[in-house]
Amino acid sequence: MTNACNQKLALFGGPKAVTLPPGDIFTWPIITQEDEDAVLDVLRKRAMSGTELTKQFEAEFKAWNGTQYALGYCNGTAALHAALWACGVGPGDEIICPSITYWASAVPALSQGAAVNFADIDPESLCIDPNDIEHRICKRTKAIMVVHYAAYPADMDPIMAIARKHNIKVIEDVSHAQGALYKGRMCGAIGDIGAMSLMSGKSLAIGEAGMVVTNDRLLYERCIAFGHYERTGLASNYNVADKQVTDSSLTPFIGLPLGGFKHRMHQMSSACGRVQLKHYPQRMAEIQKAMNYFWDLLEGVPGIGSRRPAKDSGSDKGGWYAAKGRYYPEQLGGLTCERFCQAVTAEGFSTGPGTNKPLHLHNVFHTGDSLNAGKPTMIAFTERDVRQGPGTLPVSENIHLYTFRPPWFFKYNEEIIQEYANAFRKVALNADKILAADKEAAGKK
Ligand SMILES: *Cc1c(COP(=O)(O)O)cnc(C)c1O
Repeated sequence: MTNACNQKLALFGGPKAVTLPPGDIFTWPIITQEDEDAVLDVLRKRAMSGTELTKQFEAEFKAWNGTQYALGYCNGTAALHAALWACGVGPGDEIICPSITYWASAVPALSQGAAVNFADIDPESLCIDPNDIEHRICKRTKAIMVVHYAAYPADMDPIMAIARKHNIKVIEDVSHAQGALYKGRMCGAIGDIGAMSLMSGKSLAIGEAGMVVTNDRLLYERCIAFGHYERTGLASNYNVADKQVTDSSLTPFIGLPLGGFKHRMHQMSSACGRVQLKHYPQRMAEIQKAMNYFWDLLEGVPGIGSRRPAKDSGSDKGGWYAAKGRYYPEQLGGLTCERFCQAVTAEGFSTGPGTNKPLHLHNVFHTGDSLNAGKPTMIAFTERDVRQGPGTLPVSENIHLYTFRPPWFFKYNEEIIQEYANAFRKVALNADKILAADKEAAGKK
């Protein structure tokens, strides 16, 4: 390992650190004959639009996730939208959401006529900063949207305490963290309701699909009422004789979806989901072993940090969706993250800086008129203007300078993983040479 790091950087014509073919180490999801058979069976039975398989998948999912209820969705965006509605988010209300996340954590609030009050993130976890929440709460705040960003479990304890104190709901967006643990508890089972994507790029990948999980019977029934017309009045695994609808306001609407949405999961996804879920714990364990091995190899290397919960914390990163590393330029003489990533890319692993772009600066949240109301939705139904311009969320706005994308290994192979770790180590240990060369090049201009 150290030998490789003594060689000339590939950026300057030296040998690449990564030489071995990666084989299937980056292939995800893992699809076998079992998935193919399950999906073909749906097709052959012409059962693409039913709910039987989805209900079986939901039963298995909630048992695994440790919640009383699970409800399948056509995608994660729809699941999040339903969760927001179930939590009572309506015109003129506000939700609090981190600015660094995929847009679907926030934009569906606009579909409800609500505004999004974006909070900053913690620079180490990249999740919502619990200290940047409470001062944003007002009497119209209905929910805190927590995102376990890039698989790191958000700090739920202080967030739940704030929410309970102010009597507002906590929605967990678990799209990046299926199976991840926060202090021994499953992400998605800690807040009032969890909603997630299960689309093909996520760590639990079953096609276009989503899931809502909750222990709250009323929230579950409201989700059904909003977009599962054929299940209204007979909540998921309850039969017709057991119409225990607890919210009497929902009973008159049996048979039609209150939200006007159709959120049913495609049964080819449900079929694939059942197979994927069965193998997920074991595949997740292999990812954890591989990713922890990679970061163990890089422990103590200046400039880079593993961004993983402490080993004895009871928290972990589940399937390590879209792993991110932390970058500390001050430890490498000020070498920028972008330049660092170029040098690592030259070593044979294509990487880049950054995360999702901050949402609070996007026009959708400034001038977007999602409801054709003739006014930006953010101010259409409220006196309070919570739109945030540049400089308001400094960590979110600058985090691309301090994060990079490491490899996401799905298989444990020491030889291969060592080479990728070498690529990062070699560049970090030779940062001074890059700085010197760049300075010389700049001087010549
Ligand atoms: C992928 C994703 C979603 C949206 O899910 P879809 O299934 O693509 O609709 C929502 N939130 C986060 C954080 C995501 O990464």
